[in-house]
Amino acid sequence: MTQTYTPHRPLRVAVIGSGPSGIFATEALLKQTDLPAQVDVYDRLPTPYGLVRYGVAPDHLTIKSVTRGFEKTLGDPRVRFLGNVEFGKDLTHEDALAHYDAVLYTVGASSDRRLGIPGEDLTGSMSATEFVAWYNGHPDAAAREMVLSASGVAVVGVGNVALDVSRILVKTAQELHESDIAAHALTALDASHVQDVWVLGRRGPAQAAFTTKELREFGELHAAEPVVKPQEIALTESEEAAITDNTKKKNVEVLRDFAAREAEGKSRRVHLRFLVSPVEILDDGQGRVGGLKVERNRLDENGNAVGTGEFEVLPVQMVLRSVGYRGVALPGVPFDEKRGVIANDEGRVAGRVGEYTAGWIKRGPSGVVGTNRKDATDTVAHLLTDAKDGRLPGAAHPTRDAVDALLAGKGVKVYSFHDWQVLDAHEIAEGQAQGRPRAKVVHREVMLGHRKA
Ligand code: NAP
Repeated sequence: MTQTYTPHRPLRVAVIGSGPSGIFATEALLKQTDLPAQVDVYDRLPTPYGLVRYGVAPDHLTIKSVTRGFEKTLGDPRVRFLGNVEFGKDLTHEDALAHYDAVLYTVGASSDRRLGIPGEDLTGSMSATEFVAWYNGHPDAAAREMVLSASGVAVVGVGNVALDVSRILVKTAQELHESDIAAHALTALDASHVQDVWVLGRRGPAQAAFTTKELREFGELHAAEPVVKPQEIALTESEEAAITDNTKKKNVEVLRDFAAREAEGKSRRVHLRFLVSPVEILDDGQGRVGGLKVERNRLDENGNAVGTGEFEVLPVQMVLRSVGYRGVALPGVPFDEKRGVIANDEGRVAGRVGEYTAGWIKRGPSGVVGTNRKDATDTVAHLLTDAKDGRLPGAAHPTRDAVDALLAGKGVKVYSFHDWQVLDAHEIAEGQAQGRPRAKVVHREVMLGHRKA
């Protein structure tokens, strides 16, 4: 029998992951007026907003203001936030299908890509993802001991994440104080010995993935200055003419400006290097990073980096690989191992009815927060078409009470949107008392202690 959706029996959707894609998808479900819908947004963490809280750089507060719209969405009576519920454990794939007409996976990309070079597992070599999670106070990374005794750090990759971690490494405690960086990271970074950071692009300046606003910030830091080798950003006339992308054109202009600057003698330097690939992370003899061997590249006719056989060793004691995030498979959901995404056709999960995906776990880790609005809306359009055409299988237990009973029966301590509002107000008040925008609570148990009375 085809299910009709009414205000008494609305279309019930579970959104797994409360990052930007999950919230944009929820927003799209609320905005449409064809079908009455009820949405439960899950997150394995007590806190909502995913990468906006734990990925966006702590000093990029304007980007985070997107959460004001997110609050409206999660505060809508048709929506519930169920934090501290892990998909696959607290809510299994079967549980989700039994309680919802449609399940939409928006879990992002929580892991990272590796370089595949010798020495990658030495102490002091890690992914930018881990470093970002640490300084943003992610509960899974908060306990990590970050040794910042290195005077030289290499950051591999020239995307915006590489620029974020490099900037955080060279900002002064005073600059970081104005951000919502986790207190443990502020203390560690204040005591850090970092003097030189090498940001390494395997291709040329015209191929760098970062955006101009982020690049320009290196020219405006209190204690650090950018260093660019003119010969590494030199372009032939035809290479220059081939740059059609406006951002890339502007990037080259900013890099030229940096290269032309007189050294200011600041205590920290960010070396923006191009046409170099890491080939080996060297051991200092005690299992720690003792240097990074890089090979000089040239570009072939297709714009790919090709080694020249010329090598150089950078004096670094820490290596952060920032060569892209990678999605992690969810239990019971088809996964495309090669691409690191849920196998899907325009957001419909491959071979499944009533299961959908959006955001980085659908298309891979690219684009800014706003990119996910259209991506999520596109997936929701397919979901609604399927619902209207009677293609959804229909949930066996389509009520909030049934879900609550299921989770209570498993002893899950669900963290609601109202609970989060209590924690949010606490963090902001604590922050203000310290002259900071927010003082993040980083331990899960402490978070769970802040609840609506
Ligand atoms: P990304 O933009 O995809 O950059 C990855 C970088 O890694 C590229 O420079 C890539 O070079 C390089 N790379 C890949 N494999 C490599 C290897 N084996 N050796 C050396 N270099 C390698 O990824 P991301 O920086 O993680 O950022 C992810 C997304 O989030 C992006 O869309 C980014 O714009 C966005 N983001 C935005 C902001 C912001 O708006 N402020 C902040 C952070 C992140 P090739 O081009 O040669 O492959």
